[in-house]
Amino acid sequence: MEQKRIIIAIDGFSSTGKSTMAKTLARRIGYAYIDTGAMYRAVTLYCIENGLAAADGTIDEQRLTQQLDKISITFGVNAETGQSETYLNGRCVEREIRDMRVSGLVSNVAKIAAVRHALVAQQQAMGKEKGIVMDGRDIGTVVFPDAEMKVYVTASAETRAHRRHDELLAKGDTTVTYEEVLQNVTERDRIDTTRAESPLRRADDAYTLDNSHMTIDEQNQWLLDLYHKIAGE
Ligand code: C5P
Repeated sequence: MEQKRIIIAIDGFSSTGKSTMAKTLARRIGYAYIDTGAMYRAVTLYCIENGLAAADGTIDEQRLTQQLDKISITFGVNAETGQSETYLNGRCVEREIRDMRVSGLVSNVAKIAAVRHALVAQQQAMGKEKGIVMDGRDIGTVVFPDAEMKVYVTASAETRAHRRHDELLAKGDTTVTYEEVLQNVTERDRIDTTRAESPLRRADDAYTLDNSHMTIDEQNQWLLDLYHKIAGE
């Protein structure tokens, strides 16, 4: 059967492993992969580096809005690892955007309407040709409401905090405790689901995947099977 190029939207809470799943699917089916969380994280790093974030986490919205056209976010592939990396104004920031400083502020930046409008427009342009897997919070609801395949990934906060903590440990970051990560995950859930501007919610036509008790291989297979069903291969 003819293979049709589609848009695949993967949304869900933080640390559900959706990026890993989305990346694996994109590689297997030869699609581009876009991590929209990385884009919000890069804007957050810009705020930290340019004095737009106060010590209490407040973001200077007015100055940030004025400077939005000075922020360029692009993706490149690391020649050694083959992994996609995020660039902020031409500098690779893949490592910095994953640290707890950025994780602690990113939801405050992501709730600013002007930031969302600018990033959503870029994301829509990236999906014009279809053949894309995009993960985030509002991909199936706002960025691509007509996406052919929508998945909503969820897992308990504790499961997610354990996964994120293990990831930080694996990267050599031993300064953060499990409790701190759990608190960050819970707080981001709260802000992401209650913000006025495109809050995280399941699209009515999304397939739900609760992966609390699934292995990575099982999740990858579930996603691939769904893709084959929808793309009609
Ligand atoms: O996916 P990740 O956990 O890296 O996303 C970081 C933060 O960026 C989220 O907690 C959320 O506040 C924000 N985000 C968003 N919309 C997206 C992707 C991420 O608001 N499409």
